[in-house]
Amino acid sequence: MTLDYDIIVIGGGHAGCEAAAAAARLGSRTLLLTMDMTKMASMSCNPAVGGVAKGQIVREIDALGGEMGRITDRTAVQFRMLNRSKGAAMWSPRAQCDKTRFSEEWRHTLENTPNLHIWQDAATELLFEEPEKTSSVVAEAQENFCTDVPDPHAKEPESISAANTERGVSPIHRRIRGVRTRMGVEFSCRAVVLTAGTFLDGMMHCGAARAEGGRAGDAASHGITACLQSIGFETGRMKTGTPARLDARSINFEILEPQYGDENPSKFSFSSETEPVKDQMPCFLVYTTPEVHTILRTGFDRSPLFNGTIHGIGPRYCPSIEDKLRTFADKDQHQLFLEPEGRSTNEYYLNGFSSSLPWEVQWEALHKIRGFEDLHIYRPGYAIEYDYFPPTQLYHSLETKLVSGLYFAGQVNGTTGYEEAAAQGLMAGINAHRSLRGEEAIVLKRDEAYIGVLIDDLVTKGVDEPYRMFTSRAEYRILLRQDNADLRLTPLGYKIGLISEKRYAEFLQKKSNVESLVAFAREQSIKASEISDYLKSVGSEPLTQGRKLYDILMRNNVTFESLQKVLPKLRRFIESHNIDVETIEEAEIQIKYKGYIEREKFIAEKLHRLENSRIPDDFDFTSMNSLTIEARQKLNRIRPKTIGQASRIPGVSPADVNVLLIKFGR
Ligand SMILES: Cc1cc2nc3c(=O)[nH]c(=O)nc-3n(C[C@H](O)[C@H](O)[C@H](O)COP(=O)(O)OP(=O)(O)OC[C@H]3O[C@@H](n4cnc5c(N)ncnc54)[C@H](O)[C@@H]3O)c2cc1C
Repeated sequence: MTLDYDIIVIGGGHAGCEAAAAAARLGSRTLLLTMDMTKMASMSCNPAVGGVAKGQIVREIDALGGEMGRITDRTAVQFRMLNRSKGAAMWSPRAQCDKTRFSEEWRHTLENTPNLHIWQDAATELLFEEPEKTSSVVAEAQENFCTDVPDPHAKEPESISAANTERGVSPIHRRIRGVRTRMGVEFSCRAVVLTAGTFLDGMMHCGAARAEGGRAGDAASHGITACLQSIGFETGRMKTGTPARLDARSINFEILEPQYGDENPSKFSFSSETEPVKDQMPCFLVYTTPEVHTILRTGFDRSPLFNGTIHGIGPRYCPSIEDKLRTFADKDQHQLFLEPEGRSTNEYYLNGFSSSLPWEVQWEALHKIRGFEDLHIYRPGYAIEYDYFPPTQLYHSLETKLVSGLYFAGQVNGTTGYEEAAAQGLMAGINAHRSLRGEEAIVLKRDEAYIGVLIDDLVTKGVDEPYRMFTSRAEYRILLRQDNADLRLTPLGYKIGLISEKRYAEFLQKKSNVESLVAFAREQSIKASEISDYLKSVGSEPLTQGRKLYDILMRNNVTFESLQKVLPKLRRFIESHNIDVETIEEAEIQIKYKGYIEREKFIAEKLHRLENSRIPDDFDFTSMNSLTIEARQKLNRIRPKTIGQASRIPGVSPADVNVLLIKFGR
């Protein structure tokens, strides 16, 4: 039993599990300190992973060497590629998972990860020491390339200072040295990743009933928020909610509309370690009615959302059913999805019916839904309020500006969603490990990954409501596709040390196959006669003269898959090179979207110049009178590292950016 670690990860949720697995696999002696080790990466809400933009994030986590994709594949009960009918940038994988198996699979993975210990307990206090003299190796990294090693002499962000003046706290830079637990154990370490999710001073609401807790069945976590506030951290309060869980034996599935998974399901992980799901389970569609709405409205006066009991800000895009009735008062019905929670349980999740109305109102209303006449519910819906830390207090590495060696990831940063949490956990685990070795932080750019967009948005813009990822948040959607996440990120995952030699060899083989198939299409001339019947059959104009296969593939409805049937030389090429479906799809997307891809790359490269224009760490913006007052205040608070980052801060105008460009060089 050791009490001394390189890195301690607090919390075994989606963020904590990825952080602990990454740090330990990279070689840091890591402790995962979590309140209940039987609930690793527990799905507090819906039993699903992925979806629009979130699916892209999971593919990126996998491409970098994180676990979420593989664990999802191993525990999926249904897989769908959403938005297939739209452009490739919008395709988004989503899987229903067996909730219990997901958690078990994570626990199995973590228990078998070298360098990783697990301790079941609650962290109640973080331990600090005053800043040490920066070691020469860190100083060198800082000077040469490291953008994210905190500068102990940097000024405090303005908002933190203001909040602390009110509280009478004078923040000074510190370094983390350990964690104290509820059982009184004191662990020492050199870095901490805090991933306490919805647990910090969590308060659950169901009608007038209130109970402390991190989620139903789990205790709240006390001590950490107060400890961090006492040294100068700013905190806020957010809320989220979940629907009732239903007993399948009491549902009349015969009359419900099923929603099946894909006929040929794909999977999340790019590695050959996992297989697409077999024996898929269906979901079902159900609908609310005016009668259901009338019953729900009888509980509005007791709704903690409406009677002022809940103050935290909720997720705008996951509204409760009572919010939906208020916002869309003229709608007679709302569509709901009935999703299985696993293969070995009768429990079903009712997506779209999140509620904190009194349980008896929820129960009565649910009975009026077609198919639910004899409904039994296992647990009612409820809402939860919890503390979070405004993420502008972080560097892009996810290290806090106030305490060296302390990283935040997941819901504590004001995000919502398993995928957003896992992505941050992975990056915090990687960066905590690297900083202990004096290596530069890994900061993904906005044109490299949705994870880059996520973290840049958090630390640059902050959050005023729970942040979830949307494709619309990304400027370079055509570049950030789910299909090319490995091409974008696996070389980096390999360089970092999270991608094995075997997997990297598989990746290189795929990359080379994509390139040779694209080259084959460029070189091959197709005679008009070879293909005229085929083109007619897919509704495309016949050729008047021979064309390159590449040009033909740019047409609508023309695919490699269908062309193989009419062009024997194409089929022979694919077979002789052993090219699989995923590789063919990738080559086809590169051909069909070439123009869009090149345009986005061009714009991204132009903007890189702003990203490369650095602002000195200790620069005092208040001295720049030509900036607006708002820009000066915001720049002093966020302390952007580059003009690119400054340009994305809300309140910094294009005119302010020009002033910065003149000052720091175009
Ligand atoms: C009621 C409810 C409804 C939700 N609804 C939605 C939704 O509609 N949509 C959506 O996208 N997301 C929803 N979520 C959020 C989703 O569950 C989170 O986004 C996700 O789980 C966050 O992952 P995380 O790793 O940050 O934290 P969590 O998954 O919350 O994990 C936190 C972990 O930290 C541990 N922990 C906490 N404090 C301590 C401590 N002091 N010491 C040791 N261990 C500690 C806990 O035991 C837990 O293992 C909901 C969550 C809840 C509870």
